[in-house]
Amino acid sequence: MNTDVLVVGAGPTGLMLANELRVAGAAAVLVDKLPQRSTLSKAGGVQSRTQEAFDQRGLLEPLLATGNYPIGTAHFAGLTLPLTRDRHRHPWRSVPQVAIEGFLERHLAAHDIPVRRGHELTGVTQDEDGVTATFATGGVVRSRYLVAADGGRSTVRSLLGAAFPGRPGTVTVVAADVRLSGDDQAMTHTRSEDGNWASVFPLGTDPQGRPLRRLSFGGPGRSLPREVPVTEDEIRDGLRAVFGSRVQLLELRYARRITNAARQAARYRHGRVFLAGDAAHVHLPIGAQGMNTGIQDALNLGWKLGAAVHGWAPEHLLDTYHAERHPVAAAVLRNVQAQSLLMDQQGTRDPDLTAAKDLFAALTQLRDVQYHLDDMVSGMGIRYPMPGTEDHPLVGLPAPDLDFGRARSHELLRSGRGLLIDSAGRFAEVTARRPDRVDRAGQGTGTEPMLIRPDGYVCWAGTPDTLEPALGHWFGEPH
Ligand SMILES: Cc1cc2nc3c(=O)[nH]c(=O)nc-3n(C[C@H](O)[C@H](O)[C@H](O)COP(=O)(O)OP(=O)(O)OC[C@H]3O[C@@H](n4cnc5c(N)ncnc54)[C@H](O)[C@@H]3O)c2cc1C
Repeated sequence: MNTDVLVVGAGPTGLMLANELRVAGAAAVLVDKLPQRSTLSKAGGVQSRTQEAFDQRGLLEPLLATGNYPIGTAHFAGLTLPLTRDRHRHPWRSVPQVAIEGFLERHLAAHDIPVRRGHELTGVTQDEDGVTATFATGGVVRSRYLVAADGGRSTVRSLLGAAFPGRPGTVTVVAADVRLSGDDQAMTHTRSEDGNWASVFPLGTDPQGRPLRRLSFGGPGRSLPREVPVTEDEIRDGLRAVFGSRVQLLELRYARRITNAARQAARYRHGRVFLAGDAAHVHLPIGAQGMNTGIQDALNLGWKLGAAVHGWAPEHLLDTYHAERHPVAAAVLRNVQAQSLLMDQQGTRDPDLTAAKDLFAALTQLRDVQYHLDDMVSGMGIRYPMPGTEDHPLVGLPAPDLDFGRARSHELLRSGRGLLIDSAGRFAEVTARRPDRVDRAGQGTGTEPMLIRPDGYVCWAGTPDTLEPALGHWFGEPH
């Protein structure tokens, strides 16, 4: 074997996965076909759960120190959800994907995991013991596992012949990075006018400190084939149709047409090969969910591959990646479809749709509706099935960040091991049998006992007699 895990693709998913493997103590090689990192901003928003994931690895503070990344207001279908703003420790923030990629790449390089650039994977075969990947350069890498994080047009997925069902795009919209001038109030969230719509979100600042924005727009007659270049005139026209003379284009930095194609791999696991991020699911980027879902795929898969490499993974552990993450992306695809329809992205001006949207807008004034939608898009409402444990309100959800005075529980997860919160000090013997996999904390704090997986999800809480089965289920047999 050249390495434990070959990660193909150094977008946000592959970079996060390589870091998770590092934390789990597995050897990883990370390759990308591009000779240099892409400078396209792409995703602009980081959801609460993704920020928690970064925090659990000690990456959030240093990432946020790399620029000025404003907190934003969450939305659903362009309808703002202001009551959700201070609900989580880390509210929705505008951090461009390009900044996240640069930060993670530097972080990995500092830990001797460079992105090996200019290596395009062209072939993949697997047998009982491992995976053989071949590259356009003629190179060959043999690994125990391979993760395809090679984006929406995944080469690995094609080579596997993996089913990628869904529907092709039926509409294109323009997404552009711009500098704008004019009415700041008008430039918030999504506005529509006679079938034309435009969404404007903050995207940090340019090197001169001037605010950049992500502009998306569409409407009747604006859905052009993807390959037609976007012009400045088209952008000015799109702005005028919604804002009149209140907003002007100062600078166009980059623009592309994106489609509402929605597809998801039928299976995320193919023997020793796993699909993650856009390689496993693609959809219109509404509500800042694509990159976030990919990063959370990586968080879910990394420690499980680490366990398999170290030899203590229970038989079923790697299969739980598909079982847990496939339903999450399926739900994202559905909510994106609903958002796209409610936003009338095709500019149909259908009165039935307008009536439905008005009703939905009224509903989003309600606190519980805002909370429900926020749980959905922020990733904080993700609840994994945790077999073998009782139905406890904490189980399956992201663990709370508990303050133990000298450290927070999220800081303790930086070890990459699981964490048993044992306030009564009853379970020392239990963790002593798996010292390489589970730490113990919280003695004397009065905190409710719970077992937290390395990815930050509670996998046991409640009655002590179900603890050992839960440990066996997620952390394997004791030494
Ligand atoms: C305009 C726009 C706005 C968006 N806004 C948001 C947002 O606000 N929030 C959000 O969460 N998401 C957003 N997204 C979606 C987000 O950009 C993607 O979901 C994200 O890039 C997926 O990350 P990934 O690492 O899975 O794949 P990618 O970022 O596509 O990375 C795949 C990598 O694999 C490499 N690769 C491909 N083939 C090979 C090969 N054969 N061999 C080696 N390397 C290979 C590529 O060079 C690339 O670097 C947006 C997307 C666009 C286009």
